[in-house]
Amino acid sequence: MTSRKDSFLVLKNISRDFTRDNRSYRAIDNLSVGVEEGEFVAIVGPSGCGKSTLLRILQGLIPPTSGELLYKNHPQTGVNSDMAMVFQGFALLPWLSVKDNVALGLSARGRKAADIDRTVSFYIDKVGLEGYEEAYPRELSGGMKQRVGLARALAIEPKILLMDEPFSNLDALTSVTLRDEVLMLWKDQEMPVRTIIMVTHIIEEAILMADRVVVLSRRPTHVVREIDVDLPRPRNRKHPDFERLSDEIFSLIS
Ligand code: ADP
Repeated sequence: MTSRKDSFLVLKNISRDFTRDNRSYRAIDNLSVGVEEGEFVAIVGPSGCGKSTLLRILQGLIPPTSGELLYKNHPQTGVNSDMAMVFQGFALLPWLSVKDNVALGLSARGRKAADIDRTVSFYIDKVGLEGYEEAYPRELSGGMKQRVGLARALAIEPKILLMDEPFSNLDALTSVTLRDEVLMLWKDQEMPVRTIIMVTHIIEEAILMADRVVVLSRRPTHVVREIDVDLPRPRNRKHPDFERLSDEIFSLIS
């Protein structure tokens, strides 16, 4: 277990309850974890354990029932404007073009039109969608839709990118390509985003991409183990150390 007491981002003894049919139940139970600036952290755990809920708490979209969220050593309440989210289902507005979907976060932040145009075009190019600015989501493949989702998140120039099962709705080949591209964007010096937190239920994806894997238990969820992935990139899933990590995480989850 790694100690990260003075981290960039800290969840301290976080619990979160929900109510269903007038009964309260605990989704997250006394969960503590820290993230360093510049890290790529993957969060894995069984389906329904509370991974998406954890991301929503991190971004400040919902408050924890108890516990504390610290960002740069200060308590964080409300939405953290240094973060942006990439969603599993892309979350594009079908009546808006690629360009207007990417601009969504920027117009919401009151940026000027010329500035929005410049930024949108920069990030559309970065995700390889130049030429598709005027296309509508229905005209795009799944992979292209997720590129739009990625460009929209990057366009607000977040320091921290949150990704909620970002490749789960894509075919295997597209996932391989997009994973590599996300790793390239993370290392791209032109990108303000330095830190990535990705939720996934695919163990191999977590080991392929992350510096560290945080393994969660079943609901009510807490951290079972934090595992550093000290393998050079690009990672080879056939490497014995890769397989050993994969088996270790699998046995923790199942
Ligand atoms: P995961 O992302 O790991 O699949 P979620 O975070 O989506 O899990 O959900 C964790 C648990 O919390 C589930 O039992 C889910 O039904 C419950 N939950 C999540 N959001 C709400 C909500 N808004 N109201 C009630 N229950 C919720």
